[in-house]
Amino acid sequence: MSVMAESAARSGDIVVIGSGIAGLSAAVSAAEELGGRSGCTVTVVDRAERNQAGGNSKWTSAYLRLDDVYEVADSFVDDVVGFSGGRTPSWYVETLVDRLPETMEWIQGHGARFRRFPTYFINSNRPRLQPVGGGEALLNALRPSAERLGVRFRYGRTAQRLVHDDDGRVTGVVVTGDDGEEIIRADAVVIASGGFEGDPATLTKELGGNADQLIPIAPGVGFNRGEGIRMALDSGAARAGQWDTFHAEPVDPRSSDPEALVMVFPYGILVNAHGKRFLDEGGGTVDETYESTARAVWSQDGGVAYFITDQQSSAVTEWKRGVLTSVKPVVADTAGELATALGLPADRLARTIEEYNAAVVDDREFEWRRPDGKHTDGLEPPKSNWALRLDRPPLLAYPVACAVVFTFGGLATDARAQVVGHDGDPLTGLYAAGECTGIYHEKYPGGTSVLRGMIFGRLAGLEAAREVSTASTAGC
Ligand SMILES: Cc1cc2nc3c(=O)[nH]c(=O)nc-3n(C[C@H](O)[C@H](O)[C@H](O)COP(=O)(O)OP(=O)(O)OC[C@H]3O[C@@H](n4cnc5c(N)ncnc54)[C@H](O)[C@@H]3O)c2cc1C
Repeated sequence: MSVMAESAARSGDIVVIGSGIAGLSAAVSAAEELGGRSGCTVTVVDRAERNQAGGNSKWTSAYLRLDDVYEVADSFVDDVVGFSGGRTPSWYVETLVDRLPETMEWIQGHGARFRRFPTYFINSNRPRLQPVGGGEALLNALRPSAERLGVRFRYGRTAQRLVHDDDGRVTGVVVTGDDGEEIIRADAVVIASGGFEGDPATLTKELGGNADQLIPIAPGVGFNRGEGIRMALDSGAARAGQWDTFHAEPVDPRSSDPEALVMVFPYGILVNAHGKRFLDEGGGTVDETYESTARAVWSQDGGVAYFITDQQSSAVTEWKRGVLTSVKPVVADTAGELATALGLPADRLARTIEEYNAAVVDDREFEWRRPDGKHTDGLEPPKSNWALRLDRPPLLAYPVACAVVFTFGGLATDARAQVVGHDGDPLTGLYAAGECTGIYHEKYPGGTSVLRGMIFGRLAGLEAAREVSTASTAGC
């Protein structure tokens, strides 16, 4: 529940909750817009200590779905809206496109640099650009700028709820830390505290009973427990995005590495704990299918599957780029030995491989770099591309599980990054950006989360600063 407080004279204080890409973009742009005017403050609270702060942004490669530093691909708007079955608002995606050039100019002004590096999507993908040094480099560019601009950082403080005056206007944030609870006063609040991927209870409630089988993609996930979303909902915000799903990636559950991806699944077969295939491993490029594959693995018994291949892997010359786990594959000469090593039913696994091998059609060449149409016939589920027989021992296998990267459910916002209520009107003084805002449905359009955190984070900071400087009674 929100806390009520006496109305106070407005002094021009902005509180930003979270210091990932969305929070730091908001804090820096707010401080720039306020220009050091006396009576105005920008305070960032983060539940993590300084060396751990930055949530998911600290751990991401931060691929951006861009053709060029200032340009999206022609298909960008259609792709992003299309991936959601038309439910991601097109105004949101158009705002990203419109604000891209100035935002990229701005963040480069703070020292970020972008390049096109090879990705882990080895068989063709939509364009990706990357900041040199990944997401952490973006944080390392913005944080010193924020400090120089006088932004106050309060690490080790968890924002719990909002404080309102009698008119329902936000006047502060209740935060807790080792030294107890305090209220940080605020004339505007920017919520940038990520999704609820780090809160097992809410994951179970929203996603369903087997949420405990999901693996956090990286340590940053654990800091995002949904308080920012909850405090705005308690203040009358509307929900947006698809609450019962999340961005998923296929990882090796044996590994404790962050993002221990297994992205070579089209070049072999995937079987479940019963030794049975359960999906078309070659249904599209890895970029198109990695998320649906991870979710399909999650829906299997125990939330685990096994990727099995053989020496065909040596023909895939960029193989290593698609395997980010540092744990070696399980190797065996026969299906029986492999089944024993993996704890799978040996007869069933041998039959699965035999049936698959028998269904492979040899009417065209294997071409690993692009969907090659080399398929199976009469097999259920089919394999539509890259169907080579498993007949070149030794066999190799990686266990695969589903990792949660971030949740899709969040707050409804408008084109000025204001949080909106059930009637569609903005909640005065309340802004949100990044993962805590709900825009995604069905399938994540890869390379858009950091981008939107940066663009809408900056917008939220600018708008909050304009609002407090207009409304301030202290000359801010
Ligand atoms: C391994 C990995 C790879 C990824 N790859 C890509 C990619 O290539 N491209 C892409 O676009 N996206 C990618 N993503 C997703 C992307 O990185 C994130 O969605 C994005 O960075 C989130 O930014 P954010 O600012 O909204 O949240 P975060 O960066 O998660 O920051 C949230 C901050 O809020 C703080 N916080 C949380 N709750 C509270 C609270 N109650 N009080 C105070 N502070 C709080 C956290 O400590 C954290 O500092 C990846 C993510 C990971 C982890």
